[in-house]
Amino acid sequence: MRKKARIIKRSDGTLDVPETPIIPFIEGDGTGPDIWRATKMVIAAAVRAAYAGKREITWLEVYAGEKGRKKTGQWLPGDTLDTIKTHVVAIKGPLTTPVGKGIRSINVEIRRKLDLYACVRPIKYINPVPSPVKNPEKIDMVVFRENTEDLYAGIEWESGTDEAQRVISFLTEKMGAVLPEKAGIGIKPISEKNTKRLVASAVSYAIENNLPSVTLMHKGNIMKFTEGAFSKWGYEVAVEKFSDRTITEEQLYESYNGKRPEGKVIIKDRIADMLFQQVLLRPDEYHVIATPNLNGDFISDALAAQVGGLGMAPGANIGDMCAVFEATHGTAPKYAGLDKVNPSSLILSGAMMLDYIEWREAAALIRKGLQATIKEGTVTYDLARQIKGASEIKCSEFARGIVNNIDHITQGSLADF
Ligand code: NAP
Repeated sequence: MRKKARIIKRSDGTLDVPETPIIPFIEGDGTGPDIWRATKMVIAAAVRAAYAGKREITWLEVYAGEKGRKKTGQWLPGDTLDTIKTHVVAIKGPLTTPVGKGIRSINVEIRRKLDLYACVRPIKYINPVPSPVKNPEKIDMVVFRENTEDLYAGIEWESGTDEAQRVISFLTEKMGAVLPEKAGIGIKPISEKNTKRLVASAVSYAIENNLPSVTLMHKGNIMKFTEGAFSKWGYEVAVEKFSDRTITEEQLYESYNGKRPEGKVIIKDRIADMLFQQVLLRPDEYHVIATPNLNGDFISDALAAQVGGLGMAPGANIGDMCAVFEATHGTAPKYAGLDKVNPSSLILSGAMMLDYIEWREAAALIRKGLQATIKEGTVTYDLARQIKGASEIKCSEFARGIVNNIDHITQGSLADF
């Protein structure tokens, strides 16, 4: 008899995942329904193949975006947030950002209201996806981008407004600042609490996955009390929480002759502009990057481009209470309903979600099945136009190709792909 579906629970930072978890999903706008259908099909096949029917996900639809507005009159219904909170883990397609003054991005609202403070983006090359760099196979990094503060906090005033002038008067008259006339003003808050929880999650990830280093990316040479403080607090939390598992780069050379001791994670820091060069020139020296919001936005898209673009990049927003896995691209509205776009970003986000709930065998099958399908040269339009000799297939056909390859891999008929 089929086991009753149950919700995932979290206590003391540990997940209790039943064999039949209920996981909420937001289908997404535009091409969302196409890529969600494809993703659901692939996840179901991987779970079935990995656990022979002993495990199964029950999906629970929650609404947001245009579908949310049509069904409930709201772009982001409170029920949706409550359901994600109680179910701990969720997945979402891309959402339209409503146009109009005073309406914030729904994605930003979801992150803010659920306090999903870490935007986690793994960047790994999938052969033979076309790449603009010579050795894309050397790129295997995970970016932990702070999600709740920095210039993204939305504290800004337009040039010439009364508010901007009041802030300018305060800064010039009371604080001795020198400012250009009628400047627009933005505020960049970076706090110890938010930095430390972000860096702690990056270091935990490196420890759990046995990765060699965590790099604190910052622009502290110029912005000392925000970006510089990020680096300082990052080093501090590594000592406060993980002193037995971490060493600094300085200690590596002073005490260990530059050779990483078994089981230790090296904590290092790099100035942001320099790191952009380094990830192009020597990407294999970087494994986990922890960084404030704005740097993180830039570096994760730049790294995604190095391995073949946003259409392939998975992502997740993770907090202490819950986690939402999501496609990193937008709704691509001109392709809505055409069964055309590449579903890989959402499918790989699904694999991240399976890793998160520790269904690692199913996650691995998805990655292998996807790679095998791309290797066969039957791909969606975006890859077909770049891979020589490849033929274009629909979004749903691509998903079926992955399902077939998952079956071949588990039957042992696709040992070497
Ligand atoms: P977009 O939807 O990401 O699309 C831009 C272009 O990227 C597409 O025209 C297409 O390029 C390519 N693309 C995107 N997804 C693809 C996929 N799955 N497969 C293949 N190619 C893909 O960006 P946008 O047009 O700027 O934004 C549209 C809407 O999405 C806006 O409302 C925006 O606010 C929202 N958005 C949502 C999220 C999110 O929910 N996380 C993120 C970003 C944007 P070609 O036509 O050149 O092939």
